Amino acid sequence: MTPIEINDYQADLLAWYRTNKRVLPWRLTSDPYLIWISEVMLQQTQVISAIPYYSKFVNAFPAVKDLADADLQVVLKLWEGLGYYSRARNMHKAAKIIAYEKQSVFPVIYNEIIQLPGIGPYIAAAVSSIAFQLPYAVLDGNVKRVIARLDCSDIPVNDPKANKHYQKRADDLLFQNNSGDYNQAVMELGALVCRPQVLDCKNCPVNKYCKAFESNQTSEYPIKIARKKVKTKEMVSLIFEKDDQLWMIQNEENALLGGLWSFPQFEVRNNESINDILDKIILKSTKIIQREPIQLPPVTHTYTHFKENIIPVVMRVDLEAIRVNGLSKAVWVSPEMLKKLPITGACKKILQQHKKYKTNKKKEYKTSIKKCC
Ligand code: SF4
Repeated sequence: MTPIEINDYQADLLAWYRTNKRVLPWRLTSDPYLIWISEVMLQQTQVISAIPYYSKFVNAFPAVKDLADADLQVVLKLWEGLGYYSRARNMHKAAKIIAYEKQSVFPVIYNEIIQLPGIGPYIAAAVSSIAFQLPYAVLDGNVKRVIARLDCSDIPVNDPKANKHYQKRADDLLFQNNSGDYNQAVMELGALVCRPQVLDCKNCPVNKYCKAFESNQTSEYPIKIARKKVKTKEMVSLIFEKDDQLWMIQNEENALLGGLWSFPQFEVRNNESINDILDKIILKSTKIIQREPIQLPPVTHTYTHFKENIIPVVMRVDLEAIRVNGLSKAVWVSPEMLKKLPITGACKKILQQHKKYKTNKKKEYKTSIKKCC
């Protein structure tokens, strides 16, 4: 596009945005703290799913100091279901820095915003442009897809090495006099019109600048490199019951899903049976009333880089603490306590199976297990 075409493209896109933008709760504020929360949630989460989380979160923590002073467990509980929990832990850390080192004043300079925990180029550009009108272009999946189609770009959008190219193009196209609206407009175009599969090119406000549309090649773009197949792990999850309590463990803060609670879980290797695994991990001196494990239907949970097939196994026990190799921090959790704990997505699925097991006829479940996977 020539400089004149870029001006026209920006004007057409912004005019479309003004009349077609969705009314979203975070668009009704100019508070950088609230815009920041929304942008963190919107990374990896669809707008429609993020709205109820956003409302609950800002209701609980209306100002940055409220978030800074909150217990991390309460923050994680409100985040439960959004996934990518490091986002919540980093937000909590960043809120403490803003509240206690910056007297609750959100930084107004891009280079200071990007120093905060969990804030990368995308969030720094989004907050600094939307809240402060600073001239930084956002680059997310929507923006890359729109640019790839406008340019008929042969550079794969999912290659990390391509970010430099797409960032440069996003910077070139940015309307610097109203960077906040421009950034939201291009992302809105990607979400509502220039969607991944179902495009609405006829009604697209920028179709006259689009090379893919002009050459009838919209289905060819964006180019992507094939993803590696995700690895599948076979797992066993142990549900120890004592009266109405369940034995649960909290993940280490720096581990995957840090701070969240789940059942002790073990990877199954070399076609081991569940009894082999139990023999290996439960110390011989542990007295268990019902040594015969009950196998519940498996659950599947997918993370970014791997997938887990999990067999939940229920056992009733009578000890204060079970001695399981390598797991010393587990505790008995009552039903009331369970409602307050932040739990992992996989654990939520396992709890659903466990609830069904408790309400159904237990004899329907397998008690004799030779090979578990
Ligand atoms: Fe996307 Fe079609 Fe608009 Fe081009 S014309 S930007 S492909 S919606």
